[in-house]
This record gives sequence, C-alpha cells and structure tokens, in this order.
Amino acid sequence: MKRCARCVMPENYPGISFDAKGVCNLCRYFETRWGSWLASAEEQARSEARLRRIFDAAKRKGKPYDALIGLSGGKDSSYCLYLCQKVYGLKVLTFTNNNGFLSNEAKARIEQIVETFGVPHLYYQDPLVLELASVFMRETGNFCAPCELATFNSAAVMAREYDVPLIVLGNSSRTDGSVPKILNPWNPAYFMNVLEGKPYRERLSCSLFARNYLVREGLARVLGRRRIVLLPDYLEWDEEKIAKLFEQDSGIRFGEEHADCIAYEVSDYLYRKKCGGSSHKELKYSILIRAGKMNREEALQRLAKVGGNSPPPGLDHFLQLIGMTRQEFNAASERSPTAYLKGLPKLYNALRRRVRHQA
Ligand SMILES: [Zn+2]
Repeated sequence: MKRCARCVMPENYPGISFDAKGVCNLCRYFETRWGSWLASAEEQARSEARLRRIFDAAKRKGKPYDALIGLSGGKDSSYCLYLCQKVYGLKVLTFTNNNGFLSNEAKARIEQIVETFGVPHLYYQDPLVLELASVFMRETGNFCAPCELATFNSAAVMAREYDVPLIVLGNSSRTDGSVPKILNPWNPAYFMNVLEGKPYRERLSCSLFARNYLVREGLARVLGRRRIVLLPDYLEWDEEKIAKLFEQDSGIRFGEEHADCIAYEVSDYLYRKKCGGSSHKELKYSILIRAGKMNREEALQRLAKVGGNSPPPGLDHFLQLIGMTRQEFNAASERSPTAYLKGLPKLYNALRRRVRHQA
C-alpha cells in the first residue's frame, strides 16, 4: 500500500492526495499552518503572549469564573485545567458532558482530578443523547454526531448560565487528527437534516438541542462577550510530558487514549470500515510525525502490529445500550452521512475549516 512519504497516511484514505514528491495534502496543510510556529521559538513566545492577553482580558471582567473547562477524564482537558488554574491563575469552573458512554474509569479519574485541583464541577446529561445515538446510527452509519453536538452545546449553555467569558478546549489542528468531516459531521444543520420528519420536534425543543449554540457562540465572540480558546494552538503540547507531570504531582495515571468513552472502539471500527482499514491510529501517528514527536519508522512498525478490522469486544454492550441487534448494526454500518449533507451543512464545514484551521 502506498503511503505519504512524510507521514503514514495511506492512499486509500478518503480525501487524501499526494504531490509530485509523494507528500500528502494533510502534511502540506500542516506545514503551511504550523511549520513556522514549530520552527521558531520567537513565534511560540508571541503566541503565548497573545494567550496571556486573552486571559488578562477575561480576568478584568471580574466574573465569578474566568474559564469553563469540560473534563473528559483524559490528558488534554486535565492539562487545560492545570495550565489555567496553576500556571495562569484563572478561576475555573469545570463540567462533564456524560453522553451515556462515559466509562467508570473516566468517572473515577474525573473525581480524582476535581479533588486534586479543588475546583467546582457539574455533570450534564441530556437523556436524548443516547436515544439519538441509535437514530443516527440507523440513518447515517455513524452515532457520534449527537454526542459531539451535545458536548459543544452543554459547554455553551454552562458558559451562558454562569456568565463565563472563556471556554477552554484541549484540542487543536496541531495536536489532533480528525476523521474526514464527511464521515463525522455534527453541525446543527446536519443534525436537523437527519431528524427532519422524525417524531422528535417537541422533545428537541425542550432539550440541550433547542438552540443553535454554534451560531450563538459565534455572535458572543463578535460582541466580545465570550470566546473559545483552543489551548494547544498557543502552547507546546507534549503528551508524554503531560502524563509524567500528573503522575509525579498527584499520582494521577491516564489510561489508553479515548478510554473515557466506552463507544470509542465501536466508532473506530466503523471509521476503519469506511477508510480502507485505517483510522485514528494513522491520524494520530501522522500528527505526531508532523510535529516531530515520532519518527516514521516507529509509526510503521506500530501499524504493522495492528490486526485486521474485527468487531470490538465491547460491541454487544454498546448495542445493548442503544437498543440495536447485530444484524441491524451491520446493515446500518453500510450507510453514510452524505445524504444529509446537502445545503447548509456544507457551509458549516467550510466555516469550521477556517475557524479550526483544519485541512
Ligand atoms: Zn503526509
């Protein structure tokens, strides 16, 4: 199989293309967006100064909380809390959106983190999310959209209710590879397209999905009321160092990546089916290679050990939760979100590319 000459993305990955030197479009995009930042200590210092200005402006507002952080129990959100509270002295409010798939391991770690940092923390759980996961699986062959949108909406609702000027997130196009947007769209327009004509109208209007918070947060930003900060966009982000820091400082150990979600393996299985056998691992290793944190040989060796794409051990538990049989799941897994991407969802995806700097 042909792979990118620089990272490890394979030729059968949706949307991938290679230039004359055999380098993929994702690598070229990364180079344009992050090449000079990675190579220049001065540029990194400037972006940190920008971040300090954003934090200082939030502090000057004098609200009860300066920043809202959604804790998943994983490294990135925990490190956001560490930086905001310990390094930059922000008053932080934390919360967790439980989609119904939150693992016990994640719950225990969240409790440990909240206790260690002594921060206020709330759980948000909209009962519709799990039910809609089943609807989206049946219709689009992907069940992540309701949870993704609920995670965004719950942050927006909390920030609004508690009047918090910053929402701080631990992901960035420099540290995270995302699956192709055509396989995992979750913007409000797509969401409504999928549910059109289904008997959910009234319940949606009394739920976390009642309003278009993506547009509302865009307006809040324009009006200077609130902004979303992607923390790794401004700072060095090294997962190994983060893990060490938490273990040494507070004895907190992080498990496998995405161990917070018990449906993660199932989603990965579905993506691999649609991406010629590759998915999160290729994306993750490729991002690490581009950022100079892994060499290509090591990534190739690790990938060689990944077996074929067989249904994950947790599939039956997952199906029990969403009320689906294996036969129904297998049939649904052949479907894709594309039929629901007509019209507005495309505009959202174009906007997202601009805002998040993603290829
Ligand atoms: Zn590449």
